[in-house]
Amino acid sequence: MVDTRTQYLKIKDEIDSAINSVIDSSQFIQGPIVGEFERNVSSYLNCKHSIGCASGTDALQIAMMALGIKPGDEIITTPFTFVATTETIALLGAKPVYVDIDEKTYNIDVNRIAEKITKKTKAIIPVHLYGQPAEMDKIMEIARANGLFVIEDAAQALGSVYKGKKICTIGDINCISFYPSKNLGAFGDAGMLTTNSDEHAEKIRMITSHGSRKKYYHEILGVNSRLDSIQAAILNVKLRYLDEYCNARSSAAAKYNNILEGAVDEPFVLPDGKHIYHQYSIRVKNRNGMQEFLKQNGIPSMIYYPVPLHLQEAYKYDYKRGDYPVSEKIAEEIISLPMHTELDDEQIFFITEKVKEFLKNNI
Ligand SMILES: *Cc1c(COP(=O)(O)O)cnc(C)c1O
Repeated sequence: MVDTRTQYLKIKDEIDSAINSVIDSSQFIQGPIVGEFERNVSSYLNCKHSIGCASGTDALQIAMMALGIKPGDEIITTPFTFVATTETIALLGAKPVYVDIDEKTYNIDVNRIAEKITKKTKAIIPVHLYGQPAEMDKIMEIARANGLFVIEDAAQALGSVYKGKKICTIGDINCISFYPSKNLGAFGDAGMLTTNSDEHAEKIRMITSHGSRKKYYHEILGVNSRLDSIQAAILNVKLRYLDEYCNARSSAAAKYNNILEGAVDEPFVLPDGKHIYHQYSIRVKNRNGMQEFLKQNGIPSMIYYPVPLHLQEAYKYDYKRGDYPVSEKIAEEIISLPMHTELDDEQIFFITEKVKEFLKNNI
């Protein structure tokens, strides 16, 4: 599904020397490279503040803590995503209130958000699934009209663009994951928060560091969630290649589209957005059959995600099957093909041949 090793080997000297300089400095926690990387992300995105933390999941939790989310609050989000969004809402004692997804983009259906807003609603968390931006204009408009915060879950979408603005600069606080397989991947867990607000930024910094500004003086409730210097050094090198990486994925996606045309619907791309293909996902009626067939031919594939969050044992609340029919249907039909920066034409040809072969025999 991914090939982080070949990607590393191409820039091995740069990465190794960045790692070695952190080891030489012995500044493993909050070394100067962390600040340097944060400034480089801010200038890449054109946003005011970037603050490193330990993972994308932590970034979501810290964002909600910084915005004062309390037990009993309601947070509007999508049921068709990775569990981290719902998990962190629940950890803070708030309730995830789901809005079904749009059948074409797989992102939150902006036309159905308003009906879910109550007096308890505090924020909306759109997820830019598979690397495609959610419809941020409408989301911001609804949020502003109702006094809600917006937290972008951009874990899969760093480098993506919506109406000329980089994803991660539109919401009040935005969350990035540098999980190794993400478009900008670390060599372990790492994450980041971005914001244009000085006030939010200050609070986020305090929360990531045990709620303190000054060591051993704790003003607010915090956590221990820092970006390690070694991860920052690696990411700082790889950030220079991020656009190249996103373009390599887009070009692989274009080749998939070309060869699969007529056999399967290509992933829909919002006219206002730039899709960076964290995943290349298609819908297939006999999805499980296709996955098995690909496996027999030595081709990996993944199901992101087989169970929508409202049907997960740990997060059922009062939700039941049938509540979010689009998410439930897509969860049964979606399948992601190998997608990474090192896919070559031969691999794409082989994969698409097998996909077509399966579809021909299974209409
Ligand atoms: C990867 C991911 C996260 C969590 O990031 P981690 O760095 O793995 O904690 C959150 N949301 C989405 C949509 C993700 O894909």
